[in-house]
Amino acid sequence: MDLATFRAETRAWLEENCPQGARGVGPVHSGSRLIPVPHPDLDIWLERMAEKGWTTPTWPAEYGGAGLSTDQYLILLEEMRAVGARAPLSNRGTTMVGPTILEYGTEEQKRRLLPMIARGEGAWCQGYSEPGAGSDLASLRTTGVLDGDQYVINGHKIWTSDGDWCEWMFLIIRTNPDASKHEGISFFVMKMDQPGVTVKPIRMISGASPFCETFFDDAIADKRDMIGKPNEGWTVGKRLLQHERSGMEMLAAGATSSRRAAGIVDIARAYVPTTDAERIAEPATRDAVINQEMQTLALRLTQRRIAQESSDGRTPGPATSIMKIVSTEIEKDHAELTIQLMGTQGQGWEGAQFSEQEVAAHRRFLSSRAASIYSGSNEIQANIIAKRVLGLPD
Ligand SMILES: Cc1cc2nc3c(=O)[nH]c(=O)nc-3n(C[C@H](O)[C@H](O)[C@H](O)COP(=O)(O)OP(=O)(O)OC[C@H]3O[C@@H](n4cnc5c(N)ncnc54)[C@H](O)[C@@H]3O)c2cc1C
Repeated sequence: MDLATFRAETRAWLEENCPQGARGVGPVHSGSRLIPVPHPDLDIWLERMAEKGWTTPTWPAEYGGAGLSTDQYLILLEEMRAVGARAPLSNRGTTMVGPTILEYGTEEQKRRLLPMIARGEGAWCQGYSEPGAGSDLASLRTTGVLDGDQYVINGHKIWTSDGDWCEWMFLIIRTNPDASKHEGISFFVMKMDQPGVTVKPIRMISGASPFCETFFDDAIADKRDMIGKPNEGWTVGKRLLQHERSGMEMLAAGATSSRRAAGIVDIARAYVPTTDAERIAEPATRDAVINQEMQTLALRLTQRRIAQESSDGRTPGPATSIMKIVSTEIEKDHAELTIQLMGTQGQGWEGAQFSEQEVAAHRRFLSSRAASIYSGSNEIQANIIAKRVLGLPD
């Protein structure tokens, strides 16, 4: 099918099938069946898009995707943006473990796990960090011992985001304690709902608990759920981090992500005095707004170029660390500039004098500070760029 026909058919299908409750800024389906779905239209939207293979558009059809080319994928995103359609699904299944299984899984694992991920049947959490193994992740001490067809897992993970409402975890554990620290690690997927797994939410100063501690006491992972070879999981786990750091899902989330409720220009117009010509009166503020808009646009175009240039649609390697630093710094600056533009109205934590948008902006500013820590701190990304991209000595 030529691209013009594909575009026309895609637009017509989206217009007809995207329900109103899945359009515009708002929540996106997480795949979890353990928490309520915020709007019934999100279920409908997920089901319709999964049926088309468009929750994972570039995956092969036999694994739950639609086998779209990069050009078709970008057209789909553009057309979704044009009708204001939100992403049908956002979780670590489609963006992190799915692409990793596509590369490292056996045929049996791909056919069993990927369609389930593409249909959004369950949400996924990440079992990497441990007390004492954050930046130095390969120091992890959670063990897995083979017993028949199962690995028996004991240990303790920390900072497990959303661990209390995810059905599945992907994790790295030590399966050979005698090997050097990078060589005795294996990568697994595992069900969370089992007697050996205990999840304890970590309560933060805000009262929220976005992440958890996860304890394993003789937890079980099937041998058939090891992705990659035994004791070679460090390579698999590192590759997953590249998918996580690429930020390519931001391209998919596009303009309708729930995180940025309004553009920075709209915020400036609403809160900062303008001249008759609708220009922001103060030059320094005008510069900051323009700079943020340009950075955001440049990032989006770079992500688009990366998608176009990778003929096989693969996430780049260590260079994803550059995307991680740039995208998280832009995100932090965006959140900070938003509350600066709002002035004292941007300082609200709660209270009737602040609008919902103002409270959300302040909370987003506070949580944005974590962006340069999670998925490997930006200092660690700078180390990776120095060593693996620029080839500098240790
Ligand atoms: C919001 C949030 C969500 C998270 N979600 C998850 C999750 O779902 N699953 C999961 O497994 N983990 C998760 N994490 C954990 C995250 O991956 C770790 O916090 C991160 O890898 C840093 O590890 P650490 O906190 O132990 O810090 P440390 O490793 O103790 O580092 C402390 C400081 O020292 C710096 N540093 C350390 N070593 C070096 C070095 N060699 N060179 C230069 N600087 C260095 C670091 O940059 C950092 O500033 C999450 C973290 C956050 C903040």
